[in-house]
Amino acid sequence: MHRLYAVKVKIDNDANAAALAEAKWGAGRGYRNIFYASIGTGIGTGIIFDGRIYHGRTGAAAEVGHVGIDSKGPLCNCGKRGCIETLAAGPAIARRARQKLFDCPRSLLREFAGGDPQAVTSQMVATACASGDAAAKEVIRETLDLLAYWLGNIIDLLEPDVIVIGGGVSMMLAPFLNEIRERWKGATINPAPGEIPLVLARYGEDAGIAGAAALCEFE
Ligand SMILES: [Zn+2]
Repeated sequence: MHRLYAVKVKIDNDANAAALAEAKWGAGRGYRNIFYASIGTGIGTGIIFDGRIYHGRTGAAAEVGHVGIDSKGPLCNCGKRGCIETLAAGPAIARRARQKLFDCPRSLLREFAGGDPQAVTSQMVATACASGDAAAKEVIRETLDLLAYWLGNIIDLLEPDVIVIGGGVSMMLAPFLNEIRERWKGATINPAPGEIPLVLARYGEDAGIAGAAALCEFE
């Protein structure tokens, strides 16, 4: 590649690269140890350890969206059961909302989805929650619990200086960041989990591009 283009070529996965961009120029700037998660249709994660991407032995580290929190949970795309991705990413939020509609037929969600529960999306859940819909509020509350439990594990493993979250679902959860931090206190043995900031990523759709630039600039 180097010979072909006469420039330095770096290859990494998008979440690792995005984590580096956040560390260098974004919401993680000024911190040495960062845990980054992009929560959208899946959960992609990156670990910045001492200012550099943590790759593990072969480069397969930091697949933290596939850390399992329920061995009997739903089957994930990766083949494992109960990964946080299959419990708390956008499709899981929509799935749990659809299930709730059986018990809460009057939920706003049914209206938003034009009467078809299969058409419910995670964005509809966020909008219905903001309007005070009970079923949607319950789905969001469950999501906060799941993410807080997962992040509590991350804190016990890494004790990062900051946790940065990006992606569409993170934007939906923006009003609840403090609530997640309150909830993770019960999910970690860390003596000072309240001191770890949880912040929104700077880069949205541009995270991959910013990440690629960060790779070339710094790694
Ligand atoms: Zn998985």
